[in-house]
Amino acid sequence: MNLICAHLDQIREVTPSAQGCEECLQTGDTWAHLRLCRSCGHVGCCDSSKNKHATKHFNATGHPIIKSFEPGENWSYCYIDQVDWEDLPARGGAGGRVQTLPPKGQ
Ligand SMILES: [Zn+2]
Ligand SMILES: [Zn+2]
Ligand SMILES: [Zn+2]
Repeated sequence: MNLICAHLDQIREVTPSAQGCEECLQTGDTWAHLRLCRSCGHVGCCDSSKNKHATKHFNATGHPIIKSFEPGENWSYCYIDQVDWEDLPARGGAGGRVQTLPPKGQ
């Protein structure tokens, strides 16, 4: 599978800014699911949440790629290309960078 996202170079090693949606925590609001910005580590709530802070963060900053911040979920999504993909598990501390080349000869 080749990715059609042209923004993978914007993925950084980020530290999550909070364990919940930053904005919702400040206002005492609730959320459905959490998304982690892969450019700066901002944690925001998903589009199923009433405040949609992850999307608002993209609109405000232009950071295109988010990752699910839910336990056991390992997918990312690009707002610009509107594609999502599953990240391969990190190998040997490689940091979980997306590998797009399929294994050959197996
Ligand atoms: Zn993209
Ligand atoms: Zn929120
Ligand atoms: Zn960001």
